[in-house]
Amino acid sequence: MGEDRPMRCDLCEGKVEEKLISYTLFYEGHWIIVENVPAKVCHQCGEKLFAPDIVEKMQNIVWSKQRPRKKVNTPVFSLSV
Ligand SMILES: [Zn+2]
Repeated sequence: MGEDRPMRCDLCEGKVEEKLISYTLFYEGHWIIVENVPAKVCHQCGEKLFAPDIVEKMQNIVWSKQRPRKKVNTPVFSLSV
């Protein structure tokens, strides 16, 4: 596609780097973690940018209610008293 200018963050214009991240989302009362998600992560503000096809893949995973690869216990903290 001939895009040779460095990617910049939409929010702060910081440098972004392509990484595999774990993406967490809250869906129908459960936390879901999707591992190995390719994202562009901003060095400055931590904003994560996903390519449209990646977003679509994640939605498909969540909506298809497929059996997860594994389950983890997630410690939950709250600052409310
Ligand atoms: Zn940023």
